[in-house]
Amino acid sequence: MSQLVNHCHRLRQRPVGRLTDDDLEFVAEPVPKITHNQALIQTLFLSLDPAARIWVSDVHYSLPPVKIGNVMRGIGIGRVIESRRNDMKAGDLVSGLTGWQRYAIADDEANEGPFTVVPPLHRDLPLSAVLGPLGHTGITAYLGVHDIARPQRGETMVVSAAAGAVGSIAGQIGKAHGARVVGIAGSPDKCRHVVETLGFDSCINHRDQAWRQQLDQATPDGIDVDFENVGGPIMNHVLSRLNIGARVALCGLISEYNTYDARPDTRRCQPNIARSLMVSRALIQSFLVLDHPDRFDEAIEYLSQMIGDGKLTYDETIIEGLENAPCALQQLFDGAIRGKLLIKVSE
Ligand code: NDP
Repeated sequence: MSQLVNHCHRLRQRPVGRLTDDDLEFVAEPVPKITHNQALIQTLFLSLDPAARIWVSDVHYSLPPVKIGNVMRGIGIGRVIESRRNDMKAGDLVSGLTGWQRYAIADDEANEGPFTVVPPLHRDLPLSAVLGPLGHTGITAYLGVHDIARPQRGETMVVSAAAGAVGSIAGQIGKAHGARVVGIAGSPDKCRHVVETLGFDSCINHRDQAWRQQLDQATPDGIDVDFENVGGPIMNHVLSRLNIGARVALCGLISEYNTYDARPDTRRCQPNIARSLMVSRALIQSFLVLDHPDRFDEAIEYLSQMIGDGKLTYDETIIEGLENAPCALQQLFDGAIRGKLLIKVSE
């Protein structure tokens, strides 16, 4: 095989505020030869996740910070080009922490997480679904709703970032449980989509000045379940409406991620969060999908079934070109897209 060239984004410096092009360096380097128990993977799709912004901060969040000079961390799907592993062969499709690069080495001893062969179950859907509803995105929604939120028939469930990758799926699972689901999203178009296409009962535009009153009107009997993706003022207000015995699945706090380098005491819970929890005797529990690999098969089976039954609709936005990853990541913080954000790296 002629010497392949890897293009990758290496972390040049820790960002202050938003990640910019200056914080990463897009470089071309030779692909190393694989050795025993390694496989060479060509990345096909890369998932862009809000957590990427945290991983480049000097904080430990699900995984240690990406070291300066290292390839940017990211979850992807790829094709095995060459293998010296017993569990994968050339041509297999695999998913794992490919990083923001065109070629990755799958080596369970050296990688931060394992690569797994994508099972045939997924093949009826486009490959990109393996990073969306049938990947860590869908599994996050499944675990948060089933294990923590546990919505009951007739209860009111609120989902923030409802038009986003995780929120859109969490809300639809809530509907399947019989809850009345109210979404919160960032534009009238997104809200329309959340109700008309995803089947939520209503959706509040948090960019409308009167969003608090609108949320109050949409939840006249209070809130039993909060699937929290955003944090900040939105979470504050949702928590102030919790009913006694409510459950809060703390999935993410995207409104804070660009400030994770700030002093911890400037970005922690405001005092009224604790008061809301005290008054409602609510359960709040955070969770990280990467802690539960033993539950992935169960979640994928459930989500596949929902898609097969026509009960789960998902959106994705695919941007071409690995070089565009840093700029594309900003779209998650601008609220510019709906559903799962992916980079198409190779055909
Ligand atoms: P999304 O597809 O939901 O994209 C992010 C969305 O968040 C944006 O589109 C925007 O939607 C909204 N948003 C961004 N900034 C703000 C802000 N300041 N205030 C209010 N809304 C904002 O991303 P994901 O579905 O991938 O992730 C959603 C959340 O889930 C994140 O917090 C993420 O970190 C978390 N997560 C947690 C996991 C876990 O294991 N616990 C695993 C995966 C994700 P809009 O325009 O509607 O405002």
